[in-house]
Amino acid sequence: MRRVSVLITNIGELVTNAPAGGDGPQGAGPQGDGQRGDRPQGAGPFAALADAAVVIEAGQVAWTGSASRAPSADEVIDAAGRAVLPGFVDSHAHLVFAGERGAEFAARMAGLPYQAGGIRATVAATRAATDDQLRANLRKLAAEMVSQGTTTFECKSGYGLTVRDEARSVALAAEFTPEVTYLGAHVVPAEFEHDPGGYVDLVRGPMLAACAPHARWVDVFCERGAFGRDEAAAVLAAGTAAGLQPRVHANQLGPGPGVRLAVESGAASADHCTYLDDGDIDALASSATVATLLPGVEFCTRQPYPDARRLLGAGVTVAIATDCNPGSCFTSSMPLCVALAVREMRMTTQEAVWAATAGGARALRRADVGHLGVGARADLIMLDAPSHAYLAYRPGVPLIAAVWQAGERAAT
Ligand SMILES: [Zn+2]
Repeated sequence: MRRVSVLITNIGELVTNAPAGGDGPQGAGPQGDGQRGDRPQGAGPFAALADAAVVIEAGQVAWTGSASRAPSADEVIDAAGRAVLPGFVDSHAHLVFAGERGAEFAARMAGLPYQAGGIRATVAATRAATDDQLRANLRKLAAEMVSQGTTTFECKSGYGLTVRDEARSVALAAEFTPEVTYLGAHVVPAEFEHDPGGYVDLVRGPMLAACAPHARWVDVFCERGAFGRDEAAAVLAAGTAAGLQPRVHANQLGPGPGVRLAVESGAASADHCTYLDDGDIDALASSATVATLLPGVEFCTRQPYPDARRLLGAGVTVAIATDCNPGSCFTSSMPLCVALAVREMRMTTQEAVWAATAGGARALRRADVGHLGVGARADLIMLDAPSHAYLAYRPGVPLIAAVWQAGERAAT
């Protein structure tokens, strides 16, 4: 079969986040042939080209550079001055669930005190749902994400909390993404209320054994009221021994040991990071653990935002993600999270877009996505706008004009 190449040209701004040694400044010089087929090395810092073009071929980025030097291709798309970016990488989402909690959200916005047990309502609905009901909900949310420019997403279990329901949750997630996370340690379910140790034994024993074949990651909600340091460490150690890689829900509701546990465990990411002390920041800055910020949660719960500037100032690698879930943040929109990161966490537009693309890729230890260096997977979005800054400048406006996943046009 003949390989079809596609040239997207007349791009007003092409955000590449290309790794060093990839594109030259302003796309000077041809690149591509010598590197094609090499293993991509992962994103570099934020980088963009003006008046640019990109060639995609065989599902990968084959060339980037100045539009005036673009090679010919089988198919040509005129971007008419619009911006092209790497697809968003949403590295934190909880999409396997049934039911909804709109009334709980409305009550919270009306100022009524939080009624504990919200998660338990979702757990009950999830256990009662059929596989097809869970699959249909997951398909709908995954389609929502693609239509908003997300081309890679992570998906956690954590609303089943029995061996059967966690195992089917990770198996269903694996139908939609390779980035599947086993989160049996989300909360202690009601039936173990008086035996939390027994639940931890289940999570790191038979439940892990049933879930590990379908998952890449193991996660734990390390927080007062959920799982303490020793329990969380035991879950992560068992998951690692089963071949999974750790990530941690850390320091969301108050100070705690989660961030340092994440660093000590070699976790790819510590997520939330809302309440950090100097020791937490130092630990993150001297590690490969990404701080994944989830500003949609603070927006939807009226909690204080994490201090992104302090993290960035210390040299910590920062990602942003949606945390899409039916309780604390029911948005699947990375453009909204970019806008919140800029407006509420004082990230620059460049920092926020990098965190939503290359940062997410780092948090998932993926070198092939989050950038448009030669050899990257051809996951691109075209904005109906001339620059990446419009994602924050025009909040709430549907700016995603086109999406490519592995070089194929996705429905938007
Ligand atoms: Zn979460």
